[in-house]
Amino acid sequence: MQCYRVLAPNPGPYTGPGTNTYLIHDGERAAILDPGPIIESHFAAIERSLGDLVPAAVVVSHNHPDHAPLANPLAEKLGVPSYGFAPGPDFSPDLMIADGSTIPVGSGELVAVHTPGHTWDHLCFLVGSELYTGDHIMEGSTVILEDATAYLDSLDRVASLGATRLRPGHGDTIEDAAAAIAEYIEHRRERERQIVAAVAAGADTPAAITEVVYVGIPPELISAAASQVRVQLQKLISEQRLLLRSPSSTEMHVVVPDER
Ligand SMILES: [Zn+2]
Repeated sequence: MQCYRVLAPNPGPYTGPGTNTYLIHDGERAAILDPGPIIESHFAAIERSLGDLVPAAVVVSHNHPDHAPLANPLAEKLGVPSYGFAPGPDFSPDLMIADGSTIPVGSGELVAVHTPGHTWDHLCFLVGSELYTGDHIMEGSTVILEDATAYLDSLDRVASLGATRLRPGHGDTIEDAAAAIAEYIEHRRERERQIVAAVAAGADTPAAITEVVYVGIPPELISAAASQVRVQLQKLISEQRLLLRSPSSTEMHVVVPDER
């Protein structure tokens, strides 16, 4: 199977150069993965890029506004079914798929891998030895987490697949999949160590921890970073590496467990 990337014109702090829409094909039939936002010129670019390829499926990695909204109108226009994990605000799949589901595309297939963490409904797709990672792993931009415990488990899961190359939802193709996944796992562990160290040094709220751990980030990203600290605190609290103090107060206050 081969792929052709159509870059959506939606660059930004969370989307890098924009959303990658992939035409995954065998030279005759194609699946369109992550059509992206509803932008007329992008819709036209996808149709133009299909050329002589016969569309077989429209597939969505997860229900986010930079990946999913064009899926229903595109599938309708092309007369093919749309596939996704579950209905959401931006997209309602014709066919719901889960971990291990296969989507046939000509002589090949996409194999769905459920990878919750960025969102609960996130799917990666294994095509031969290549893994299409959506927002589970990006190139050149930060992954925002809903659930840090699930996210780390999903990184372990994709590491176990033995894919050789990653095709992210944002940024360029990653040629050394194993190294990139290992780097992602290490980055998350390092962040956790930094958070625990910041708390040990006296920072006890998400805002205070953010100031220490995310030094020098652009001001427009500070509130997003603080919400990411909250998500990571939930994991550290669940593992009892940190303790929640005064749970009744509106803001989280955390401490390191007493070592005695
Ligand atoms: Zn996303």
